[in-house]
Amino acid sequence: LLRLDGVTVRFGERAALDAVDLEVAAHETVCVLGPSGSGKSTLLRAVAGLQAVDAGRVLLDGRDQAGVPTHRRGLGLMFQDHQLFPQRDVGGNVAFGLRMRGIRRDEADRTVAGLLDMVGLPGAQRRAIAALSGGEQQRVALARALAPEPKLLMLDEPLGQLDRGLRERLVVELRQLFGRLGTTVLAVTHDQGEAFALADRVVVMRDGLIAQTGTPLEVWQRPASEFVARFLGFDN
Ligand code: ATP
Ligand code: MG
Repeated sequence: LLRLDGVTVRFGERAALDAVDLEVAAHETVCVLGPSGSGKSTLLRAVAGLQAVDAGRVLLDGRDQAGVPTHRRGLGLMFQDHQLFPQRDVGGNVAFGLRMRGIRRDEADRTVAGLLDMVGLPGAQRRAIAALSGGEQQRVALARALAPEPKLLMLDEPLGQLDRGLRERLVVELRQLFGRLGTTVLAVTHDQGEAFALADRVVVMRDGLIAQTGTPLEVWQRPASEFVARFLGFDN
């Protein structure tokens, strides 16, 4: 479904992404792990068309996305700097993508209610964005990204601001939901436990390169390098 071919992004001298090749199959959940500054967010931004690519190609369903604007790429996005619409209430934010697709009002209302239940904000439709905590806003952003059932859902630290209990519950629910909807997911996290619980496959990044990719079990049992082993917490 998604293919990156030698994708390179440079900021000055430094390559934030250095000729990255990556494929994500339909219905697969891939989690990108790696230290701060390793290029995880840049990878997602390049796929979304929010970051210009200096070399290489991004293909969705085999089509080169060069020149295709973000909103035409069929993506659900939830980024670190999630931008909710402050002038709309919670329901209006979550329904945004549904209205765009011409879904009927009553059906959209049901979908919104279901999504808000799922993210632990039942009945929050009429609440103002400004009156929500950071974690609550994050959950609204997650519901909004899921609403249009995108062909590829990209999440950047989706559960970053949530407390442990909620994270653990949401990871289980998300995994079930993605399975049920057949969603293809590319998610960034630096929480290993979260990645291993959520992912069919993990990608470990280092300095703009992919240090290893494999199932959680493969990466855990056979880290490809000293770096991966250290990152996973095997301090010899
Ligand atoms: P984190 O876990 O902290 O979110 P990350 O893996 O998402 O880190 P990126 O945001 O992709 O890291 O950044 C990769 C590298 O590119 C970093 O060295 C960062 O400083 C640099 N970088 C990212 N965006 C820009 C930008 N707009 N201008 C200049 N440098 C940038
Ligand atoms: Mg980041």
